[in-house]
Amino acid sequence: MSMEISSILQGGYNHPLARTWQCKRQLTKSMLMYPIFITDDADARVEIASLPGQCRWGVNRLKEFLGPLVQNGLKSVILFGVPFNCTKDETGTPADDPEGPVIQAITRLRQLFPELYIATDVCLCEYTSHGHCGILHEDGTINQAPSVERIAEVAVAYAKAGAHCVAPSDMMDGRIRVIKQGLIEAGLANRCMVMAYSAKFASSLYGPFRDAAGSAPSFGNRKCYQLPPGGKGLARRAIVRDVNEGADVIMVKPAMPYLDVIQDAAELAPDHPLAAYQVSGEFAMVVAGAEMGVYDLRTMAFESIEGMLRAGCTLILTYFTPQFLEWLNEA
Ligand SMILES: [Zn+2]
Repeated sequence: MSMEISSILQGGYNHPLARTWQCKRQLTKSMLMYPIFITDDADARVEIASLPGQCRWGVNRLKEFLGPLVQNGLKSVILFGVPFNCTKDETGTPADDPEGPVIQAITRLRQLFPELYIATDVCLCEYTSHGHCGILHEDGTINQAPSVERIAEVAVAYAKAGAHCVAPSDMMDGRIRVIKQGLIEAGLANRCMVMAYSAKFASSLYGPFRDAAGSAPSFGNRKCYQLPPGGKGLARRAIVRDVNEGADVIMVKPAMPYLDVIQDAAELAPDHPLAAYQVSGEFAMVVAGAEMGVYDLRTMAFESIEGMLRAGCTLILTYFTPQFLEWLNEA
C-alpha cells in the first residue's frame, strides 16, 4: 500500500447528506430577499418580457402576488418604484411622494404582511428628468453634496413610512454617512437598517432591469459613479468607506462575475452581514441557458447561489426567490 492516507477523500462525501456537510453555509429561506417592481397604476400586473416570470405590480395586486409566497416562507422583499404617471424633474421630486408607488407599497405591505421584512431601494434615477442617480451640475456631471442630501431625504421618508431597511444604490460618494445621520435626526436609526450597495459595478447585466424600471439615463452613462469592472482595489476602498460611514450591511452587485469582490468584502467587513445581488441579466442568463438545454434550471440556479455562499454571502437578492422557496421545500 503506497497511497498516502491523506489522498483518500471520497469516503467523506459519498453520501448525499455528507455532501451537504461539505458546505460551510447552506441556502435557507431567511437568506432570500426578493426584488419586486411597484408601479403607480394601482391595479397593474404587467409582465416584463426580458425578465422571465417577473411583473410590474400595482399596490392593489400585492396581496395576490405576495400572499402565496409569504405562505411559502418568503421573509423579505426589496421594493423598486417604477412610476409612469408622475412629473420627473432635476431633483427627483416624485421619489418620496407620499402618494407614489414605493411609500404606498410600504404602507400596504406593513398592513397585509406584518411579519414581512421590507427593504427599499433608494435612488433618484427613476424619478429624475435626466435619469441619472444624483443631481447634476449644468455640464451634466454629478453635484455630490445636494445629491447625497436629496438621497438621504428620500431614505428617511421611506423609513418614516415603515421600511425596515433603506438600500441606496446610487453610488454617490458619502451618502451612507448622510443617510445614517438623517435616520438619527429623525429618531429612526434604531429601527431602520442601511444596506449599502458598496461595490456596484457598471455592468452590462442590468439590461432587463432597465426595461423593467424604465431607468436608462437620457444621456451619457453611469460610469462616473458605478465602479469599473476591473476596479478591484476601488471596490475594496468603497467597501471600507461604507463600513466606516455606518453601513449595517455591505452589498456587492452583480454577483457572478464579482465573486472575488464578495470574498474581499467578507475579509474587509468580517463582522457585517454580506449581501449579493444576483441581477436581472444574471437571472435572465441562467434562465436562457436552461431553455437552450445547456443545463437543468434548478441545478444551475443552486450552483449560482452556492458560489455566492462560498464567497461569504449571508443574504441573497435574487429573482429566483419564488422558485427557491419551492425548491427548498423539496430539498
Ligand atoms: Zn440609480
